[in-house]
Amino acid sequence: MIRIRHKKPECIGCKLCADVAPQYFEMDDEGLAQLIGSSQQGVFQITEGFDEDLEDLEKAEEGCPVDIIYVNR
Ligand code: SF4
Repeated sequence: MIRIRHKKPECIGCKLCADVAPQYFEMDDEGLAQLIGSSQQGVFQITEGFDEDLEDLEKAEEGCPVDIIYVNR
């Protein structure tokens, strides 16, 4: 499993993560990325991902312009 963390308060709503990994990220009513099915831990939303989705998750991690997505295998 892959551990995913997302620091939502610093999201600028560019939508890249929701485009490259829509199975994990969606845009909420305020235009900020929401990590689907996540739980809150401090400033982070956290959840787990499937190994086969690593490539999509890495695209989100590497593409996020404010570096608030963290993917750990
Ligand atoms: S890529 Fe980063 S800044 Fe853009 S919507 Fe996703 S979390 Fe927010």
